[in-house]
Amino acid sequence: MTRKEFLKVASVLGIQLSAFPTFSGHLSKAGHCNSSDQVIIIGAGAAGLSAGYLLDQQDIDFRILEATSGYGGRMKKTDNFTDFPIPLGAEWLTVNTSIFDEIVNDQAVSVNVDTIGYNQNDDYGLWENGKLLLSDLGSFNYRKFVGGTWFDFFNEYIVPPISKNIVYDSAVHAVDYAGRKVVVKTEDEEYTADKIIVTVPLKMIQNGAVDFTPPLPKSKLRAISNAVVWDGIKVFLEFSERFYPAYTDFTITPETAGQVSYFDAAYGQATNKKILGLFAVGEPAKNYTSLSNDDLKSYILEELDEIFSNQATPNYIDHIVQNWSEEPYIKGAYLNDHEDWRIVRTLFKPVADKIYFAGEAYTSGDDWGSVHTAVQAARETVDKITNRANN
Ligand SMILES: Cc1cc2nc3c(=O)[nH]c(=O)nc-3n(C[C@H](O)[C@H](O)[C@H](O)COP(=O)(O)OP(=O)(O)OC[C@H]3O[C@@H](n4cnc5c(N)ncnc54)[C@H](O)[C@@H]3O)c2cc1C
Repeated sequence: MTRKEFLKVASVLGIQLSAFPTFSGHLSKAGHCNSSDQVIIIGAGAAGLSAGYLLDQQDIDFRILEATSGYGGRMKKTDNFTDFPIPLGAEWLTVNTSIFDEIVNDQAVSVNVDTIGYNQNDDYGLWENGKLLLSDLGSFNYRKFVGGTWFDFFNEYIVPPISKNIVYDSAVHAVDYAGRKVVVKTEDEEYTADKIIVTVPLKMIQNGAVDFTPPLPKSKLRAISNAVVWDGIKVFLEFSERFYPAYTDFTITPETAGQVSYFDAAYGQATNKKILGLFAVGEPAKNYTSLSNDDLKSYILEELDEIFSNQATPNYIDHIVQNWSEEPYIKGAYLNDHEDWRIVRTLFKPVADKIYFAGEAYTSGDDWGSVHTAVQAARETVDKITNRANN
């Protein structure tokens, strides 16, 4: 950024001129520049990457500190299990495909993402009281990515312009906002910024992974401790035959406790492989997350044999497990679907006009728990930081 450009941005951000150091933009962990940033983003998942991307579009200096050695967070995927990418976290698109253009936010970019919706007459199962009730799927607005995932979308459209700003293996453990600048500490480094955006998963904050000085306001602390983050796991199994419907739900009592579904993970993909996914969140997920890998395999095969007349064990080939409750820097699935919206809104609220929150659990309270809502929260946060929001 030139000095002239900075003057423009500084007036928007309310930054004092003497506070602006030179910024080389060289951000590898070894030998990163020690200058102060305008904005530091903690976490390189959907929210952190989107916030960085939007700041970059406005030529505002920022850096992203990410605890792990890669970006994406809960959009994690693997290309190594079968012949199409497997989404280990976020899988479905639950809003209109126009969301891709909205996220890219640049009319000059033509966005091309292949997705497929379900058909009303796809087969659907409901596992209830030990019986499988089969019917048509009916109206179901979820879409699956074809030959790609949420991660791939971010990888292609959002990450390239900002990849140089991400510092990996940098878990933030302390934030000090007592002074004019915010001081952000990792094990090896100290960074300063005018404002920071915290996108660290709520369960990590609940576990005390980041120490705030001064302590966060009481209302924020109450919301943090009262919010319920669901446990969660995904398992993908390869079989030699497809003996299962496009989607099978379990009846969960009470309904608000969580969700368990088995689904045809190969639905709409260019493949002959038979891949079944398990998605479990909330209380019922604990039946799976508490088991060792071997016990989990036996448990699932037994469960599937019971539901699908002993067709699972003889057709089993392989499986992979992503236990989100054990993922070191995530420690859960996402904020429960039935959370009080006022808690969500309080989680989102900035502190001292310096500490901003955005992400899956930190939204305006209208909706949460998905990629597009994490992105929307990032957008609103960047708007607030640049003073463009109306509220
Ligand atoms: C099993 C499962 C299924 C899902 N299915 C869907 C779906 O189908 N569709 C959908 O839209 N959404 C789905 N979601 C939700 C979606 O994945 C999340 O809402 C979204 O990806 C969260 O993005 P985020 O940026 O808020 O958080 P994250 O993706 O968790 O990013 C936070 C980042 O912060 C990093 N971090 C943690 N601690 C620190 C620290 N101290 N310092 C620095 N960095 C740190 C983490 O490593 C991570 O990269 C699913 C989630 C799960 C778990």
